[in-house]
Amino acid sequence: MRVFLLLGPPGAGKGTQARRLVEKYNWGYLATGDLLREEISKGTPLGNQIQPLVTNGKLVPDELIIALVGTHLQEGRDYLLDGFPRTVPQAEALDQLLRSRKATFKAAFLLEVPEEVLLQRIQRRAAIEGRADDNPETIRTRLQEYHTKTAPLIEYYRQRGLLYRISGVGEVEEITQRIDNHLSTLLKE
Ligand code: AMP
Repeated sequence: MRVFLLLGPPGAGKGTQARRLVEKYNWGYLATGDLLREEISKGTPLGNQIQPLVTNGKLVPDELIIALVGTHLQEGRDYLLDGFPRTVPQAEALDQLLRSRKATFKAAFLLEVPEEVLLQRIQRRAAIEGRADDNPETIRTRLQEYHTKTAPLIEYYRQRGLLYRISGVGEVEEITQRIDNHLSTLLKE
């Protein structure tokens, strides 16, 4: 089992790139944001507990996320992770989980996009998808959460030689190609 991660701020294009890569490589796909929105829409106890946090753009506590991932990550296939880990404790918990399953974390692809482009993209997505957390106030909170809690993961993976910086600006296809250039080497290892 090999694991790849898409890392980057809200609006960087993680979901868009993830869908393309998962289809191309036939990987499993785990997006904690999607799982949480599903819990909320079903009105499960977890969904009700986390709904105010997600709606306000705050991160959900690490232990809830780690438990959720543990139940969804199936053995015996490669995975693309999107939106998890989002904090250093989550990354440490993932490393431990992967060790216990004899799986390898292969690469973190960091999608780099200037902040003004992020804001434009999120506003466009708000108009198309109607996500409750894509409003101006919440976007500010989500970017703040990213900078304070998630950005330290860049250093975490860089120190381990697992970070690949990808320009997230340009056509969707071009950006996939940039990731693919690295994957063609990584998948041969
Ligand atoms: P996303 O769809 O990845 O942008 O996630 C939407 C929201 O779900 C985030 O703003 C957080 O409130 C919550 N969330 C998703 N993944 C995580 C995570 N790994 N850790 C904490 N909160 C998360």
